[in-house]
Amino acid sequence: MSDLLEVDDLHAFYGDFQALHGVSLRLRQGEVLALIGANGAGKSTLLKSICGLVTARQGSIRWRGAELLGQTPNRIVAQGVALVPEGRRLFPSLSVEENLILGGQVRRPGPWSLRTVYDLFPILQEKRHAPSTSLSGGQQQMVSIGRALMSNPDLILLDELSLGLAPIVIKDIYTQLPRITGQGMSAILVEQDVTRALGACVSFTCLAEGQVALAGAPGDHGRDAISAAYFGT
Ligand code: ATP
Repeated sequence: MSDLLEVDDLHAFYGDFQALHGVSLRLRQGEVLALIGANGAGKSTLLKSICGLVTARQGSIRWRGAELLGQTPNRIVAQGVALVPEGRRLFPSLSVEENLILGGQVRRPGPWSLRTVYDLFPILQEKRHAPSTSLSGGQQQMVSIGRALMSNPDLILLDELSLGLAPIVIKDIYTQLPRITGQGMSAILVEQDVTRALGACVSFTCLAEGQVALAGAPGDHGRDAISAAYFGT
């Protein structure tokens, strides 16, 4: 199968501070890739670069062979890339349903609609008229995932899904992941819980200080090698 996403030699900055130093990765259609690494390793910066929220200064991000670098976030969503950002970032003055509808503003053909999102997370249908801020953290995360699905992406970027959530809620959300990716959608999963991340992916990339420290399939490397790459030792 050919690569859907090809990131090559990416260098990203915040002002003078360089967060990514020549990062490369490959993702195939339908594949779930886990992006792991310690705090500050550059995981969110890489996701934001892919969806156009951070403009890398050097390198390339090719999507189905075409360059994404320099394109606006809206155009990138229209091409099939959606982000579930760290911290959810829902619109606080809007209801659950209004948040979901906003996610469908750039709408591509595909299986996801209000009906199928409610089918995936039935609690959201019950709470559809409630202000998004009145929901629990787990329910807000479901809205954030649903909002991304509403554009019918081919690639979903999931940044720290389990941050601040109770273990039972995390388990619920992870149980639904195969229903999302099972329809051929690819995913890049950023997750602090390395065991959980490696259990949910086909391949992984470990970042340390803005560089790729290790990559491959989870079975390619022993625990010690992964842990050494994670901690940069
Ligand atoms: P975390 O798990 O803590 O979110 P991360 O691996 O996602 O970590 P990034 O958020 O990508 O890491 O951050 C990479 C580096 O860039 C860190 O040193 C961080 O302090 C810095 N950084 C991130 N966002 C900004 C910003 N808006 N302005 C300046 N520096 C930033």
